[in-house]
Amino acid sequence: MPFRTNKWARPKKYYRKLHERKKLEKLSTEDGIINHQNKEDVCIREPEPFTFSYLKQHVNEVSLPLSWSLLSSCSEFRFSKVEFIGDVSKVSRCVMVAGNLTWRVLIHGRDVTSGHDIFEHVPQTITALSVITQLITLVNTCNICMGNTDQAFIDLVQSRGGEIVKSVSFAGEKEVSAYIEEDYNAKAEDGTIYNSTIRSVDCILITDRKRCCKCSSYRSNLRSLSSRRKSQGKEQNMCTDTNSKANFRYLDKTQLHARATNLQRERSNVKKSLDRIVKRLISTEGISVEKPLQSDLKTIMEVHSKDVTKAYSEDSFQRLFWEEQLRHAKCADSRQMRWHPTIIRWCLSLRY
Ligand SMILES: [Zn+2]
Repeated sequence: MPFRTNKWARPKKYYRKLHERKKLEKLSTEDGIINHQNKEDVCIREPEPFTFSYLKQHVNEVSLPLSWSLLSSCSEFRFSKVEFIGDVSKVSRCVMVAGNLTWRVLIHGRDVTSGHDIFEHVPQTITALSVITQLITLVNTCNICMGNTDQAFIDLVQSRGGEIVKSVSFAGEKEVSAYIEEDYNAKAEDGTIYNSTIRSVDCILITDRKRCCKCSSYRSNLRSLSSRRKSQGKEQNMCTDTNSKANFRYLDKTQLHARATNLQRERSNVKKSLDRIVKRLISTEGISVEKPLQSDLKTIMEVHSKDVTKAYSEDSFQRLFWEEQLRHAKCADSRQMRWHPTIIRWCLSLRY
């Protein structure tokens, strides 16, 4: 019988050795637990001071709200909220973290000063991942100044080349006081979407009101410019206005030229606005289709393109709609293309 089962036959010092072995085992397991705990502590604790290389390793731990994405380079991180306007995607809100851990916030493509009240409790440099989360949350939920969205003001600034120039220096440098902002699919405080607005160059962008104090006070300037324009128009350009009923026979050469320019501008504005509506419709109501149906639709469009072009004038809604879809169908990479149900019905009716 082996000595392990026969306790009477066990060798000398068997129990002492067994006891020592158990003691050692116990110690090593305790050490193991302590080491493991230490390791976990190291994982959770962020380095002090916080470093850019640590951020690089852990940037994916920053949780992003819906519609936000991360772009990274070796020297910068950009957390951006992207808006889809037709086929165009635009960054409406952005938090940038540079290699030296300083941050910048961009709203509608413009810098928001880090001294803004909203960033009162945010450190000037990133000291922890939680600071980035704090910044993103602030930027994502803040209300953006809606500027001045009145169509009359937009027309006025458009007629002046998209900006209001306060003065021009001897060197020819312009001092701009307000400008037209491009489409960011922005939402006003009451939830309405605006495609364009006039912003003062001093606009503070983030406000808890409908519009910031700078854009509010600039409103009176726009009002006076608009009324001056109206009175000038009444006195001098009545016959050159696009709605004028004056007969061309009674206009001199300059007036005819002005009338033609106005008509051309109006036509271009209408086309732009229709184009925007078409893109928005396709973006919001369009659907993706299977590959065979996509190629059938594309063939039908190409075959009937000439007939549609003949049937509808260049500025008509139908023509713009058709051309917009055809343009995308012809693209090399049209896999992600969205088809508006009306175009699908139209193609089917042309074929069958
Ligand atoms: Zn403003």
